[in-house]
Amino acid sequence: MAAPSMGGVMLPRGNGQTVRLPRGASLTDLAERINAEPAALVTALFHLGEMITATQSVNDETLQLLGAEIGWVIQVVSPEDEDRELLETFDLTFGDEEGEEGDWESRPPVVTVMGHVDHGKTKLLDAIRHANVVSKEAGGITQHIGAYQIVTELEHNERPITFIDTPGHESFTAMRARGAKVTDIVVLVVAADDGVMPQTVEALNHAQAAEVPIVVAVNKIDKEGANPAKIRQQLTEYGLVAEEYGGDTMFVDVSATTRQGLDELLTAILLTADASLDLRANTEQDPQGVVIEGKLDKGRGPVATVLVQRGTLRQGDSIVAGDAYGRVRSLLDEHGNKLKEALPSRPVQVVGLTSVPRAGDTFLVVEEDRTARQIADRRQARIRNAQNASMRKRISLEDLDAALKENRQLNLIIKGDNSGTVEALEEALMKIEVGDDISLRVIHRGVGGITKSDIDLALADDVIVLGFNVRAEGQATELANREGVDVRYYTVIYQAIDEIEAALKGMLKPEYEEVQLGTAEVREVFRVPKIGNVAGSLVRSGTIVRNSKARLLRDGNVVADNLTVESLRRFKDDATEVREGYECGIGLGSFNDIKPEDVIQTFEMREIPRV
Ligand code: GDP
Repeated sequence: MAAPSMGGVMLPRGNGQTVRLPRGASLTDLAERINAEPAALVTALFHLGEMITATQSVNDETLQLLGAEIGWVIQVVSPEDEDRELLETFDLTFGDEEGEEGDWESRPPVVTVMGHVDHGKTKLLDAIRHANVVSKEAGGITQHIGAYQIVTELEHNERPITFIDTPGHESFTAMRARGAKVTDIVVLVVAADDGVMPQTVEALNHAQAAEVPIVVAVNKIDKEGANPAKIRQQLTEYGLVAEEYGGDTMFVDVSATTRQGLDELLTAILLTADASLDLRANTEQDPQGVVIEGKLDKGRGPVATVLVQRGTLRQGDSIVAGDAYGRVRSLLDEHGNKLKEALPSRPVQVVGLTSVPRAGDTFLVVEEDRTARQIADRRQARIRNAQNASMRKRISLEDLDAALKENRQLNLIIKGDNSGTVEALEEALMKIEVGDDISLRVIHRGVGGITKSDIDLALADDVIVLGFNVRAEGQATELANREGVDVRYYTVIYQAIDEIEAALKGMLKPEYEEVQLGTAEVREVFRVPKIGNVAGSLVRSGTIVRNSKARLLRDGNVVADNLTVESLRRFKDDATEVREGYECGIGLGSFNDIKPEDVIQTFEMREIPRV
């Protein structure tokens, strides 16, 4: 092994070997693994232009850069892989365990409703919730807990269906991205009076990528101008061919308003599930599933809505969900009823966790409380590390920020509820006038909620994200908060304009104005050895303040500008200021061309507040 010297410290050279590091690792972590001195790595990195202490988290790119320099291939292990390894150390795995012995029972399908904004996803989910006959008998008022289950009848059998009650593509993709496959069937909502729109296509792309069967709900058929045939026609272009046209996708005409067609929709969901999916789960294994929603309840503490995917979740179970853990104190359904147990596909609220897990986190039930706590602790530590790493990235982002401010450009992403408002807003913003040295650039615009990819885009640049009548979806908020992306919501166009104008003005170089402090008339000039000429003066107006700016006027003409009151004396004593009517000695530094009857004006530069 060659040992190159970097700044005098010896470094073992890697010869292209691979070293694995968790995301957010520090130089000390790396040093330990490659048997080097942390200080040597700090020095090496310093030579590459990065100042990082030994215990600070280092971001991926920097690690790789450093690796290349010292001859190691640094493999940054993804959080998912790391988590898998973490669970393995406890002899646990998350996911289907086909081989496991137990009772494999059929489970209800889990449905996510997707579609273009305003096509009626929310209203449809509401209508379905109320269409549930069985739940009415249960008596409770349905609460929003992020998911609900209804029971419908098919061929005289009572069949439950679970709906994820957070419509939107983000929640779907976010969960999928985190390795949690939750959705069995996607209901694609398309408004019959509108047609296939960008988000319709996006939704079906997501569903097809995840190989999740689609049922199309052609909504708003109560509306004038509704053209359900046109929707069928349009969707054939995307490979969704209606059964009546010889394809295998079920299309159901519905109205979330009049509730027409809801039974048919539920039937179509079940028939599609029965035809294309084998939905069974082991009810006897240790329970596992996914967190749908988490919140902090004033009375009950952390409450998580989880979807059980395998096993049977029971009161008293030791559970770890993401970096939260605890013992299941109570299980509640969407009506607030207490449950003794929750079978696969059942969404339940879990009370008893020590903290609030995040949507998309997986949960596991483990034998001992201690194991749950240990896993949670390790995950917490990892999240902290990752956050530290991204903090570092943010610091450099801020540098980038400053650099961009030098260029004086403000970048915007505009998302709105429809293309008309987005265009109107963009047009109005472009009309803001703040001077030539600043420009406004819209780097992305679109219709729909603020998505994770919008935030990703914003991260790469100095960007403000504007949401007009739309909100951030799913993980976007979390990501924006974590990365410090400026996201602003508006419902009034003028407010948006005002705020952007203010932001632009904030980027302007400050403007100063001169504020007169005082004037003094020179009566006599004294020559002081080593100091120079001192003006024996009478303060005519205001106050003469030491260290203030000054200019010298003679017969009304400016003889010298840009002077400073370097010394100020009352008789033999130094003074910080001398007021009107008093005599004083003023020294103007090395400036000596002072004559009796000259006028010394003093002033300061004040920043002008922008209006
Ligand atoms: P989302 O953005 O897809 O969740 O859409 P919403 O559920 O918020 O619905 C958007 C608008 O369409 C709302 O004003 C609803 O009242 C309306 N809407 C939804 N479904 C229907 C329907 O079947 N018929 C009619 N006439 N209006 C509907």
